[in-house]
Amino acid sequence: TLFTGGHVTQAEFYHEGELVGVLTTQPLDRVLDYKAPEGGCRAGAFVEVPLGPRKVLGVVWGPGKGDYDRSKIRSVIRVLDVAPMREEMQIFLTKAGDYTLTPMSAMLRLATRAPGLSDPPSMQKVYRLGGAEPDRMTDARTRVLEVLRDYGGLAFTLSELAETAGVTTSVVKGLVKLGAVLEEDRPRDTPFQRLDPDYGGKELTEDQAEAAGVLRASVRSGSYGTTLLRGVTGSGKTEVYLEAVAECLRAGRQALVLLPEIALTAEFLTRVEARFGAKPAEWHSGVTMTERRRIWKMVGEGGAQMVIGARSALFLPFQNLGLIVVDEEHDTSYKQEDGVLYNARDMAVLRASICGARVVLASATPSLESWTNAEAGKYDKLTLTSRYGEAVLPEMRAIDMRGEQLPSDRWISGALQREVNARVEKGEQALLFINRRGYAPITICRACGHQIGCDHCDARMVEHRFLKRLVCHQCGETKPMPETCPSCGVEGRLAPVGPGVERLAEEATALFPEARVVTLSSDMFGSARALKAQIKAIADGGADIIIGTQLVAKGHNFPLLTLVGVIDADLGLQGSDLRAAERTFQLMRQVAGRAGRSERKGLALLQTYQPEHPVIRAILAGDEEGFWQAEADERRHASVPPFGRMAGIVLSSTDVQEVFDLGNDMARRDGPLRQIGAQVFGPAPAPIARIRGRHRVRLLVKADKGAPLQAALARWLAQFRPGPQTRISVDIDPQTF
Ligand code: ADP
Ligand code: ZN
Repeated sequence: TLFTGGHVTQAEFYHEGELVGVLTTQPLDRVLDYKAPEGGCRAGAFVEVPLGPRKVLGVVWGPGKGDYDRSKIRSVIRVLDVAPMREEMQIFLTKAGDYTLTPMSAMLRLATRAPGLSDPPSMQKVYRLGGAEPDRMTDARTRVLEVLRDYGGLAFTLSELAETAGVTTSVVKGLVKLGAVLEEDRPRDTPFQRLDPDYGGKELTEDQAEAAGVLRASVRSGSYGTTLLRGVTGSGKTEVYLEAVAECLRAGRQALVLLPEIALTAEFLTRVEARFGAKPAEWHSGVTMTERRRIWKMVGEGGAQMVIGARSALFLPFQNLGLIVVDEEHDTSYKQEDGVLYNARDMAVLRASICGARVVLASATPSLESWTNAEAGKYDKLTLTSRYGEAVLPEMRAIDMRGEQLPSDRWISGALQREVNARVEKGEQALLFINRRGYAPITICRACGHQIGCDHCDARMVEHRFLKRLVCHQCGETKPMPETCPSCGVEGRLAPVGPGVERLAEEATALFPEARVVTLSSDMFGSARALKAQIKAIADGGADIIIGTQLVAKGHNFPLLTLVGVIDADLGLQGSDLRAAERTFQLMRQVAGRAGRSERKGLALLQTYQPEHPVIRAILAGDEEGFWQAEADERRHASVPPFGRMAGIVLSSTDVQEVFDLGNDMARRDGPLRQIGAQVFGPAPAPIARIRGRHRVRLLVKADKGAPLQAALARWLAQFRPGPQTRISVDIDPQTF
């Protein structure tokens, strides 16, 4: 059952011995009664409580229920030395849990993702760059110094530094003795440097100044509201929303900026520093443990004014959040696809509406959801119409591949080849885009026709020459390329079919022997740091031709880039995904937007076998409104999101019979759903029918826009007792349907 906790007023204080209800991070899904400890505790306090033989972390959620034998109730062990959870956070977690049908314990885990929360404050030894150069440099020493330089002024703990540099701690200690690295004592958790809202603002264009003025006023209003900030890539959306951040800082409130991709943060941090004179806090999976603990505490105490982060930053304990910016709001990576299934964009709106903050959704190609909300007047609209400065939107043209007589292992058309050559000669850059990682998507045996698949998933293994392995993109399993066919045993007949980014790079290297070709694909970099370095090198002119996957479509600024060639514009249009058109439209426009971001004019060429396809035509015509209107009509007609409500229920088990039996049973006993007029479709094999050896079956539930879907789902699901091997996961507003 779900816990719908309601909420408590934070003024509530419980004296020693009074009953309090504590929500823990353990999967129990009810609030447990405890006695308040010596000295009492406040509602919202983070506490340690006994649970069986263990001590666990929890939050005082409200008064105890008292429906349990009082003599057996144990006491809270201690109150932790961190700011209590604010009431608005309790409400946010409760509502978000209700919306996504997630147990409260799992929601609380999202909100306590800081290591060492229960440790007492203390001093620690940290290491930073010293002045001295050692006489004798070894590879290991060089790596340590490089890491410290790369991370600017950041201090590391001993183990973090050794681990990041890939050396033993004695190497670091040796450098300390030589004065090349400094060892200092620092309190664990220190505030971030103050940001100055008036430090380095740019002079805005008329268009930008107007938009910034509207946003500033909305931030000053101090109440909830969402603005969809549209504008082509390079129009200055970032400059404009940084003005909203400035206003938020002036008002003494905190600002959160969500970015869809960690690789973008480095470039962004530099910009923020130039604007506000100091670096903000940075929260994502690449941040060290010590730093995370510090951020978590400082956000809660007001010692961090601004956070740049991944979607999980929404669950930080902000003391006084005034603004949330969701940059590239349409990006699919905002949808968590593992664990708690939530869309960070929607959760940002929810969180802001609870704490009276403003939301800015920025995008050149908004999601259909946000576009619809703006059309309906639920969101304010602001649009920047032109690119900043001399930069103009690239010209877009299709290359009709039906006329090209390319051999089966080549993908760069003659027309594209000529344009690339022209750029390279002028010292400009060309980007060849293909949204496929690895060398070749298929490995086939030329003797028997067998295609190498994953042993655990219903997926093909993808050859990655860079990693010298076959990789399953579903479960991550890898294996070496076999010499002989696993099916017929014939040797030497396994061959790659189709292009991946690595194979395209091979073709480009052969076609353009004079050019410097670099490949940008997420799996080719050992660390976020290496990737950052590569991106910077490209921006500084260290490459002529960039071969890239989706990674390059997002927000990077390459001033010398004037040509984008999309190798296969049709790729996203295949398959049965209803959102395929929207995705392709967004992706193609984002990619094309990479070209000509400075004063040089850009050209985008789309290789396609179906130039008359409506989506391709809308992209070429740059007819955004027309595209959204047509797409909205189609979805309205099918009453699918955002014009109807949907949930995907995925059942998975190692036992294929068990999942189908359960699925059929669920489809039959659909009373609670029928009560609200909802329909169930399926069970059918899920889009990926087997992952990591687990069979997956999906049911889709469709309801009208206003229907109380979650409540009905909860009642429906409560009827079933899945077997021990079976897992049920509920995905409200699934990405694919
Ligand atoms: P978007 O976020 O819409 O893609 P950006 O804010 O990143 O656009 O702006 C694109 C480029 O133009 C950036 O390098 C930015 O610094 C520059 N730029 C935009 N507006 C101005 C301005 N008013 N003055 C100076 N530079 C600007
Ligand atoms: Zn697999």
